[in-house]
Amino acid sequence: MSHDPNCIFCKIIAGQIPSKKVYEDADLLAFHDIHPWAPVHVLIIPKLHLASMADLTDEHAPLLGKMSVLAPKLMKELGVNNGFRTVVNTGPDGGQEVYHLHMHAMGGPRPWLKG
Ligand code: ADP
Repeated sequence: MSHDPNCIFCKIIAGQIPSKKVYEDADLLAFHDIHPWAPVHVLIIPKLHLASMADLTDEHAPLLGKMSVLAPKLMKELGVNNGFRTVVNTGPDGGQEVYHLHMHAMGGPRPWLKG
């Protein structure tokens, strides 16, 4: 399924739910997390509905590559100059709450980061 009408992030992509967008192209969308864990916390998502990293196949490698390349670019644009953390939670034991693949990119002055 390329779009899931019940998925909150698909609704954000469709503009049915507002978001603080920081980037958009044909394949990806990035927006500020509504409950930030860090001074700067954005989510990078594919427009294609993929429930989680567990659903990836070889054909998705370029998409994941694009997400990974976008993260440092966005952090720099958002003023994060001293490092950042990327996280992809996968499945119940991975702490995933929203089942549309997303990469958290978090930065800003510590001490927000534990461990
Ligand atoms: P967790 O909540 O454990 O981080 P996920 O990795 O699935 O689980 O992350 C989902 C993220 O989506 C959360 O950080 C949450 O704050 C964010 N989120 C949920 N709804 C929205 C929304 N409407 N706009 C922006 N961010 C959202």
